Amino acid sequence: MRIAIISDIHSNLEALTKAFEIIDTKNVDEIVCLGDIVGYGANPNECVELIKKRVKYVVIGNHDYAVAVDPNELLYFSAHARESDLWTRDVLTKENLDFLKSLPFTISFKDLLFVHSSPAQPREWEYIFTEVQAKVQFPYFKEKICFIGHSHLPGVFPETGSYNGKLDRNTRYIINVGSVGQPRDGDWRLCFGIFDTNTWTYEEIRAEYDVEKASNKIIQNGLPKVLAKRILVGW
Ligand code: ZN
Repeated sequence: MRIAIISDIHSNLEALTKAFEIIDTKNVDEIVCLGDIVGYGANPNECVELIKKRVKYVVIGNHDYAVAVDPNELLYFSAHARESDLWTRDVLTKENLDFLKSLPFTISFKDLLFVHSSPAQPREWEYIFTEVQAKVQFPYFKEKICFIGHSHLPGVFPETGSYNGKLDRNTRYIINVGSVGQPRDGDWRLCFGIFDTNTWTYEEIRAEYDVEKASNKIIQNGLPKVLAKRILVGW
């Protein structure tokens, strides 16, 4: 089975549409979304509707949660994140808010765990940036691989040994699939992953999309200009 794993779309319709176009050429059997469908970008309804249509397995992200479940969480967000999430809350339809509200924190199948932030504390939105931070997470899940998003920084963290571009069946992994709609690793191109359960291989996909259009729409909707600028450079 080939599984495409997308995360952190952040209402970027241009990036999400392009990601699905690529997925359609890659012989994928299943798509999983690791959350943060909304926040920051200009097309929250369109992105939620596309995810509803195309993706069977979806977990909730911290922006989805703050927008649809508990607005108190916005207190912990940066000023521009808070501003865009309040706007998102206003423009989302009731159906789409209800959909976000219904999402689980984790999903597990085929010995794979899917969570937005971390396996140890899926509801606490903690970040895993380093190998050391990843190492302490392994006792908190039983599956062979845990796929995460949240930091918008793609990376593969093995439980033992080092990663040389190929997965070893004898160890376990935490894999950050990066962000479709707002990469932060200095590369503006959309990012996601494809995992093959038969060959046990992981492929990271990077691709250009119409980032100028997505950026202009952020400005046109009166959202913070910094959000329009950052997607152009990937930080
Ligand atoms: Zn995010």
